[in-house]
This record gives sequence, structure tokens and C-alpha cells, in this order.
Amino acid sequence: MLAERIGRVKPSATLQMNTKAQELKAKGLDVISFGVGEPDFDTPENVKEAAVRAIREGKTKYTPVGGIPELKDAIIEKLQRDNNLGYTRNEIIVSCGAKHTLYNIFQVLLNRGDEVIIPSPYWVSYPAQVLLNDGVPVFVQTEEKDDFTLEIDILREAITPRTKAIVLNSPSNPTGQIYDRKCLEGVAELALNRNLYIISDEIYEKIVYDGHQHISIASLSEELKKRTILVNGLSKSHAMTGWRIGYAAGPEEVISAMTKVQSQSTSNPTSIAQWAAVEALKGPQDTLTEMVTEFDRRRRFLVDAINQIEGLSCRMPKGAFYLFVNVKEAIERGRRRVSSSSDLAMYLLEEIQVAAVPGEAFGREGYLRLSYALSMERLQEGVERIRKGIEQLYQ
Ligand SMILES: *Cc1c(COP(=O)(O)O)cnc(C)c1O
Repeated sequence: MLAERIGRVKPSATLQMNTKAQELKAKGLDVISFGVGEPDFDTPENVKEAAVRAIREGKTKYTPVGGIPELKDAIIEKLQRDNNLGYTRNEIIVSCGAKHTLYNIFQVLLNRGDEVIIPSPYWVSYPAQVLLNDGVPVFVQTEEKDDFTLEIDILREAITPRTKAIVLNSPSNPTGQIYDRKCLEGVAELALNRNLYIISDEIYEKIVYDGHQHISIASLSEELKKRTILVNGLSKSHAMTGWRIGYAAGPEEVISAMTKVQSQSTSNPTSIAQWAAVEALKGPQDTLTEMVTEFDRRRRFLVDAINQIEGLSCRMPKGAFYLFVNVKEAIERGRRRVSSSSDLAMYLLEEIQVAAVPGEAFGREGYLRLSYALSMERLQEGVERIRKGIEQLYQ
């Protein structure tokens, strides 16, 4: 008999799609996947070299639980340089990816029944992690017509005496929205007045377009910094998803509690990956610039192409590498064959071998998330297939 908490989380809505995509691939079909949540670029050469060097130099043993001092210092430098935030080593913890960082945060903050406010559409793991840690996710809806920005009045109404924290993810996966200063100031005021923690997931910080600026909410005031746990990592910015390095910066009591939990669960993240991360943060950043330029080119192409398909529409995302495509009209017109975005995703996969993640996975029916972390050639071919598939759907 398994623990009751296991029943609280649903298997990922993407799982079924993935299994199906794998099946089709195994049959030799050419599946184009818009479902991927990781950059299609290679980890920069200098970073790989640093890892090889670490192996050769025997840096292959346990490290301090919360990360090697060299990496903590590189993170401190980065936060000062990019976000104008000053931290000390006691206020930093390195974990096995930002996902693990977030899990540690919920472990140390939540008592049974504590509420965590999550703007919706949301990244799939936030509610699941809250539930696994005995908390209650409370969703605050954001709307496409408002560019998925957070309405402070709606946020205020969601706060109860049990609210412990607010999760922010800007730039956002899946919507690509970036919260502006005014919005962040509204959140800040609420958090301070109601004594809430802000968990700020900034993993897409570097992937922004059109001169849009990422503002780290902790930088708004010294008071706010004491209530904020900043989460970031190297998976997206340095194409290092497999290396599993994420980190948090925050109040010492929170970080030291997280370090205690980590000391009894995973211990340190991989020593070799930590040395690679030092190089990623301190070395040249030109591959990042190249990656963002290429993402930008694809973004423009894909937004334009999708908006030309009857029944599909999407806004220009400001950051990250996803389009959150409105497919409500397509579902309406294809009623005979599909009645939800999950159905539509399955239809596209079966009929034209294009994989996309249905909006339900992010808490919003009527949308599909398309990642543009695939080559321009594949994007073009994929869009062409979608166009034909949707046409067929209406027949
Ligand atoms: C990818 C992603 C993460 C976590 O990435 P890690 O590989 O665990 O560092 C966290 N938040 C969001 C919104 C993401 O898309």
C-alpha cells in the first residue's frame, strides 16, 4: 500500500503524449516534436572542458552539501553583476537542478494545509511539488487578453491566513510573459503586508527578446529581499539540462534549512557538474547570445506562421522558448473529431506526427504549448504539417 501523498499528484499530462510519440518513432515514423522543454543547442565547449579537467584533477568526491565555495562565489558574483543583489555564501545553496531547488523550498516552508499561490497557466511541477509536501496549491488565473500578466486585485483576493508563499515564474513557461516593474511592485507590497514568501523562478532570465528586461523581484527593496527566495539554474541559459545544477539565494534561515534537508536526501550535486557550472558562470557568455539570437529568429517565424493558420492564434512571447497557442476555434470547428486540447494534441500526433503539449498540463484548456527548441528546418516542416492537419480537421 503506497503513501497517500502519491495519490495526490496526477501523472504528467505530457506522459501519455510522450509514450505515444515514442511508439510512433519506434515504428519508424518521423515525428516532429514541439514538446521539448530544453534548448537544442550543445553545452558550450569551455564548460565541457572544465568538466573534463575536473575529472582529470580528481575532483570526483563528495563536496560540501550546499555546493563548493568556488561555485557559490561564482553565483554571488553573477547575482551582483546581473541582478544587483548582494548575498553571502550562507545565503546560497546549489542543488540537483532548479526543480530540486524548488522541492527543497517547499519541504522547508510548508506545514500541512499551507497554501501556495501559483499564477495559472503554470509550469507543471509547482502544484505537484506543493501537493507532495502537504501544501495546497491556490491558482490565480491570468488571461491571454491581458497578455497573461498578473492582476494584483485577483492576487489579493486569493490570499488567506493560510497563505505561505507566492510563486513567480518570469519569464514564464508556458506563456513567455515577463512581469514588469509595476506588476512586481504590486506583488511586493502584498507579500510585505501579508508576510508571505516570494519564490521567484528566474530560470529563463537570459532568454528574453525585443529589449524586454527581466527584473529580479528581490532587487526592489532590502525588505523584500528578506522575503524572497530566488531560484535559478544553468539548464536553460547554458544548455545544461543533463548536468543538473540549480541554485537558490535567500534568507539564511531558509537556505540553512534547505541545506539540512539536502544533507539527508541527495547530499551535494555532482562534483564534476559543479566545476563545469563555475566555468559556465565565469567564462565567456557568447554562446548564450548566439542561442538567444537564434531563438528570436525562430520565435518570429513561428508566431507569424501559426497566426496564418485558420483557427489558431498566439501572441508574441517576450521570453523563454515556447508559444502558448490558442486553439479554441480549431477545437470548435473540429468538434466532430476533437473536443479538447488533449484530443487535438493526440490528433496532430496521430495524423501528421507532430507532438505538442496540451494546455491542460499547464492548467489551461484550449491551448497547445509549442516549443521552438528545434531547428528552423524542422520548424518549417512542422508548421506545414500543422497547417495541413488543421485543414483536414475542418473537412
Ligand atoms: C526547466 C525549468 C525548471 C528546472 O530546470 P532544471 O533542469 O531542474 O534546473 C524550472 N522551472 C521552469 C519554469 C522550467 O521550465
